[in-house]
Amino acid sequence: MALYPQLLLEPRRTLPNLTLCLNSSGKTLDRRFFLPLANAAQFYGVRNIALMGENPPAHPDFAIALRSLFGKGENLSLWIKPGQSSPCAGLIAHEVNEIIFRLGPYSGPEEIWMAELSALQSEVYMLRKERPHLIVKGVFHLSSATLKALEDAIHRVENALFDRLEFFPPNLYLSPEGEPATSPLSPDLIPSHEELMRYEEHFWEMLDEPCFQSWLFDLNMTRRQLERVLLCFKAASGRGAFEPPHCRASRTSFYIEPTGHIRCCPRQEAFGDLREMSLREIEEGERVHVFRSKINLAIDRICPLCPGDFPHFLWRSH
Ligand code: SF4
Repeated sequence: MALYPQLLLEPRRTLPNLTLCLNSSGKTLDRRFFLPLANAAQFYGVRNIALMGENPPAHPDFAIALRSLFGKGENLSLWIKPGQSSPCAGLIAHEVNEIIFRLGPYSGPEEIWMAELSALQSEVYMLRKERPHLIVKGVFHLSSATLKALEDAIHRVENALFDRLEFFPPNLYLSPEGEPATSPLSPDLIPSHEELMRYEEHFWEMLDEPCFQSWLFDLNMTRRQLERVLLCFKAASGRGAFEPPHCRASRTSFYIEPTGHIRCCPRQEAFGDLREMSLREIEEGERVHVFRSKINLAIDRICPLCPGDFPHFLWRSH
């Protein structure tokens, strides 16, 4: 009899997604956080743990991070840019469940960024040589330049034998601190009015192109993602309003910065500091509760401008 009240009163102990930013702006996440975070991940039954950063494998204790966190959630993913896995392909391939390559947003001479995409073939080959069934996905931030050469870009990712490719707009308006900037950070990323009109005109036929008929795409999802890219570019060029992505980060994620600050994602307010409080104190604290009960993506000042590329987007699409 006493069992039921106890179950009902038990506080909620689930946290689906935990992301660690290992390095950013010259700061690195202290290795002393790894073990407590691994224990917290087990305590909360975390499903997905992601390691991100400017160059995660360059963290001086990267191997310790992998070994502390591997197996502590259902899935450990590593988010890197092309070329970053090369110094430690063997370690990475054996200690993560999946690798996500962050591609773009590209601008400048096409041959330079196309060469980066072509080099993925040998990088992924080296990883899969170590572990043949390693899952490899791509998050592609589109730009004016990549829209023009999308078919060729997709073929290069296809040649690298990725398992999935998803599309997002570039981060046009947010400063690294999460403050909306007054003007686009990289105006050369936005297509011109004429380019946008052409893209819009052929939008519905685009998914019939042979390049999209590959294992890389879930066509419904790809259509939604490309629609949002189009909306975002139109809004950035003054035609229409920004719309928020379908994002659950505010209620399902914790993002740990190298400074120890915890947010739901890189762009929202900090709930607390791991140097002063445990993750459990932060999770059960008033600030998280108030934030989660109040946030509304549609009227939030940051969410409509967000690319919507935060890790949980890929996790929902296994
Ligand atoms: S939409 Fe972007 S800024 Fe808003 S909660 Fe999701 S990841 Fe964070």
